[in-house]
Amino acid sequence: MASQVTFIGAGNMASAIIGGMIESGYPRDAITATAPHEDALAPIRERLGIHTSTDNAAAVSEADVVVLAVKPQIMHDVCAGLRDAVQAHKPLILSVAAGLSADTLEAWLGGELAVVRCMPNTPSLVGAGAAGLYANGRVDGDQRRLATELLEAVGLVEWVEEEALLEAVTAVSGSAPAYFFLMFEAMEEAGAKLGLPADTARRLAMQTAFGAARMAMDSDKTPGELKRNVMSPGGTTERAIAHLEDAGLRRIMAEAMDACATRAREMA
Ligand code: NAP
Repeated sequence: MASQVTFIGAGNMASAIIGGMIESGYPRDAITATAPHEDALAPIRERLGIHTSTDNAAAVSEADVVVLAVKPQIMHDVCAGLRDAVQAHKPLILSVAAGLSADTLEAWLGGELAVVRCMPNTPSLVGAGAAGLYANGRVDGDQRRLATELLEAVGLVEWVEEEALLEAVTAVSGSAPAYFFLMFEAMEEAGAKLGLPADTARRLAMQTAFGAARMAMDSDKTPGELKRNVMSPGGTTERAIAHLEDAGLRRIMAEAMDACATRAREMA
């Protein structure tokens, strides 16, 4: 029988994961989502065919996994309301909230709980996410497999063995969709300066990023080898890449990602 999974919060991230789970065949009747108002839950219940509830504590009473998918600012109060119910049978706690440590969540929920922290990213909303996961010492192998299964429904899952490495995950994938969106903006502007209609430049840039990612993921070659394969000596690509290298793109990326990880540490 499938594990019972209760999502506390039924917003963007919860809906994305639930949608992915259903698409990959997870039974709808093993999934529950909660939110404070019935008005917000009715469309989710109708669209996804899952159970819903406005009563967080009742909704976790038989859950094997409780997914914490509310905003970090209200997490303390939400955990206080769940405390007795989770202490009664100690389900796996899986948090997608940014910046709240496993120890903090465990303490807010009354202690001695298996906690998995997940750093997802927004492409999860279209089933193409990349998530870093960390498990505290109480999480067993079956619970790890279950957490992997739930998050793989919306994309790639990578485990890290030290919680602090979630800050690096934030820099590499959590915040990184925005780096690529910036790149699209820059390429659209530059393409327009070269005379293309801006929307044509935008579509070409986005499709090229998609194709390059697909090619790199499907290939045995490293990104460096793939790059060299498109750089004929004296050609156009070689000229562009030389300019990016001379202008310090690698240093800029390293500094930006360092700033990102530092900010994640400050917020933890
Ligand atoms: P969201 O769309 O605002 O969803 C939050 C959900 O929580 C809403 O359904 C909200 O219901 C519900 N809620 C509010 N108070 C509640 C309570 N007391 N009990 C139960 N549910 C309650 O937020 P989100 O974007 O999904 O983010 C959720 C978590 O995911 C956050 O911790 C965030 O850090 C993390 N995350 C999100 C993304 C992303 O791409 N969106 C990426 C990384 C991490 P109402 O709307 O009716 O108030």
